[in-house]
Amino acid sequence: MLPDKDGPSAGGGGCQDGLGGGEHPSVTLFREYLRLRTVHPEPDYDAALRFLDRMAQELELPMKKVEVCPGRVVAIITWTGTNPALKSILLNSHTDVVPVFQESWKYDAFSAVKDSEGNIYGRGTQDMKSVTIQYIEAIRRLKSGGRRFARTVHLMFVPDEEVGGHKGMETFVKHPEFKALNIGFALDEGLANPGESFTVFYGERCPWWITIRCPGSPGHGSRFVENTAAEKLRRIIDSFLDFREKEKHRLNTSECLTLGDVTTVNMTMVKGGVAYNVIPAEMDVSFDMRIPPTVNLKAFEEQIQRWCSQAGEGITYQFAQKHDNQDVTCTEDSDPWWRTFSTTCKALNMSLQKEIFPAATDSRFIRAVGLPAIGFSPMNRTPILLHDHNEFLNEQVFLRGIQVYQELVPALANVPALPGEA
Ligand SMILES: [Zn+2]
Repeated sequence: MLPDKDGPSAGGGGCQDGLGGGEHPSVTLFREYLRLRTVHPEPDYDAALRFLDRMAQELELPMKKVEVCPGRVVAIITWTGTNPALKSILLNSHTDVVPVFQESWKYDAFSAVKDSEGNIYGRGTQDMKSVTIQYIEAIRRLKSGGRRFARTVHLMFVPDEEVGGHKGMETFVKHPEFKALNIGFALDEGLANPGESFTVFYGERCPWWITIRCPGSPGHGSRFVENTAAEKLRRIIDSFLDFREKEKHRLNTSECLTLGDVTTVNMTMVKGGVAYNVIPAEMDVSFDMRIPPTVNLKAFEEQIQRWCSQAGEGITYQFAQKHDNQDVTCTEDSDPWWRTFSTTCKALNMSLQKEIFPAATDSRFIRAVGLPAIGFSPMNRTPILLHDHNEFLNEQVFLRGIQVYQELVPALANVPALPGEA
């Protein structure tokens, strides 16, 4: 059933300044959180932790803090279920946001300005401070409504997702405190959808960052020296960028493929050379590749080896990053978690679009330890503006997202004991 109201001042005006005056208190809280400068390269994580401490007090729930690396704290608010032996539900969000180019923004990126249409501008409105507040507000409403659920629900707030998660989720999933959470199913961030549907992500592409070293005969710039680094470099670039064209064509000519279904290749760095008239002894080129879970990684690397051997003698390569975990979360109706998630959304008249996440999120670390995770940020009718200038979210879309979690959390936390559970 759909809740028919949001709270005391549902339907409040769209153009208030946030100091009362009819603005929904959940929106006011969201705007307050947006003003915390948890922005890289020096996120104010202390401010976020003070805010979360206050949230835990308001919710009357305990909050645990685990310092996974110096200055990097994971905070967990826990609502214990009536049968805590069952596997728990994880609602994960990261507290950090990416930097801004302020001169390209309409408004200050940390003022959380709301325009006359109810669009709230700020870094993190989509990625992913909205989801953090939606989790908190959904729990607040469920709790104040006297609800209890069988399974324990953990709200987890992690640092450093935007810089790769190494000092955040990647380290925390190996921590005994993570294991102690006894997680059965996780929700984490997704992306906005400009249409009516909501996008859900059940897997991610593997990022491979590679540098190819092309050695060659050095010499004077006035001669036709044989076997130069530049000739090899050109063949390497041709092989990678020809493949890039093929994948781009595949994406653009298929109705059913999304960015997460194809391999992207981008040449991101070139190094080499000392002077105009000196043929260098080496030239290097680097590529950022993102490989979908459907690609055989072994065969793909063999292809790279062939490109190298065909380009000339002595070419070597080195990976700066090479992820090989291709686990995806089951989205078959036979899976109790997915069935519960999808039928709850269906009951709310939401249509879901299943996709592979084109970039990387903390979900990959959760999946890598064998747990199912769905990437989902309830934002439809919203342009995808994460990491972009003028990132915004409309307050009505934001408020609707709270209602979505008000239905999802009870449904997931009441999934009956599965085989092997207490
Ligand atoms: Zn994010």
